[in-house]
Amino acid sequence: MFFDMRRHTHEVKIGKLRIGGTNKVAVQSMTTCSTMDTEGCIEQCIRIIDAGAHLVRLTTQGTREAENLRNIKAGLIERGYGDTPLCADVHFNPNVADVAATIVEKVRINPGNYVDPARQFKELEYTDEEYAQELKRLDERFCRFLNICREHNTAIRIGVNHGSLSDRIMSRYGDTPSGIVESCMEFLRICEREKFPNVVVSIKASNVKVMVESVRLLCKEMEKEGMDFPLHLGVTEAGEGEDGRLKSAVGIGSLLIDGIGDTIRVSLSEEPECEIPVALGLLQAAGVQRTKTEFISCPGCGRTLYDLQDTIRRIKSAVAERAKHNPRYATLKIGIMGCIVNGPGEMADADYGYVGAARGKVSLYRGKECVEKNIPEGEAVERLLQLIDSEQ
Ligand code: SF4
Repeated sequence: MFFDMRRHTHEVKIGKLRIGGTNKVAVQSMTTCSTMDTEGCIEQCIRIIDAGAHLVRLTTQGTREAENLRNIKAGLIERGYGDTPLCADVHFNPNVADVAATIVEKVRINPGNYVDPARQFKELEYTDEEYAQELKRLDERFCRFLNICREHNTAIRIGVNHGSLSDRIMSRYGDTPSGIVESCMEFLRICEREKFPNVVVSIKASNVKVMVESVRLLCKEMEKEGMDFPLHLGVTEAGEGEDGRLKSAVGIGSLLIDGIGDTIRVSLSEEPECEIPVALGLLQAAGVQRTKTEFISCPGCGRTLYDLQDTIRRIKSAVAERAKHNPRYATLKIGIMGCIVNGPGEMADADYGYVGAARGKVSLYRGKECVEKNIPEGEAVERLLQLIDSEQ
């Protein structure tokens, strides 16, 4: 089932990482400390990488921060973390992007503020000539940046944010998904013309509907113009705790189900490494990647024949323990069902099943086949593990 319907994209090289094509969906996060705080950044990067990230982004406000990326990179190499690429996050100053492109593997720029003047939040009128002039200025400046990236094998991310569209785009398209998409397409057309393929694209918004609609529209527009750039997905300012996780799951998850998305970031107002397990869980829930054992369990009802919640806890903890030494466990789907009525049917695609057979009695399944009947409940978890272990 995995990747069956995945949108076709070309592969982008980011140092040793590959994004797009048939590569796994990459997971990333962003440091939160000042990029001038070398030690702080190194430590945060290590925590993010240890949590399972494939790429780490660092905010890069000015040339000083861009230059300091060199020290951060050196520190990471020294501690054995040099293989994970870094991405400089640049706004407002194309000169900073130029410097960063000579140091790290990827640079993110924001079309809304790359060369267009800072947004005035006024309704500005642009004549066709003025509009064309700004586009020409953008084109020239961006081409200089692309040449630097080409020379250093640096990838770029064209990262549009709903909240920072330029006055120029707003004057023509307003605050709409079409405006968001056009803001992106202007840059992508230049990349195509300049034959610069090492580009990942993102459109982010804090409004989940706007984000999903805009990304779907971007995919259509790219397809119309024969482009297949990979996509980075994320919901900005998603918040923290359950709210942030739900917003990200709905936004990123909807697109993953569509087969869209080559790298994701779950933005949370928490420690950055907390984003990674959520991102990995989201990929698993969307059926994109299996990163850990998957459990299917019923909610329980009046028919439940054993202590469902306690049993789920015991099976999960025993499986987690075994998974540390046996990678096969991470590939399994295990069903835990309170009774026989719906149990076997609902967990039909599970590899193994634990199903209530009678009060205090459990049956074990391999796929759809019942392999052990009416085991006393006290022994059933251990027997399930023995059954799995016996089939290595
Ligand atoms: S599988 Fe059985 S116990 Fe679980 S919810 Fe369905 S009917 Fe109830």
